Amino acid sequence: MNKTPKCGPLVSSISPWQQVIATCGRCGNLAAMDPTRWPKSASLTDIQARLKCKRCNAKTGAKLLIGPRYPR
Ligand SMILES: [Zn+2]
Repeated sequence: MNKTPKCGPLVSSISPWQQVIATCGRCGNLAAMDPTRWPKSASLTDIQARLKCKRCNAKTGAKLLIGPRYPR
């Protein structure tokens, strides 16, 4: 009945027309992510926990934001 894992949505649930942005909880750095490089069976929470900020090297506090790709 309940198919949604409690660890959050899976990478495979991201649509090609959506973009994924990672935000750093410490310095506020924004980085566009490429979900095609992630294993489809991984959960976004899992990916989020493994993110490391390229600017301030924070390993925690990162958040993934999923939104529509904006047309140019
Ligand atoms: Zn940072």
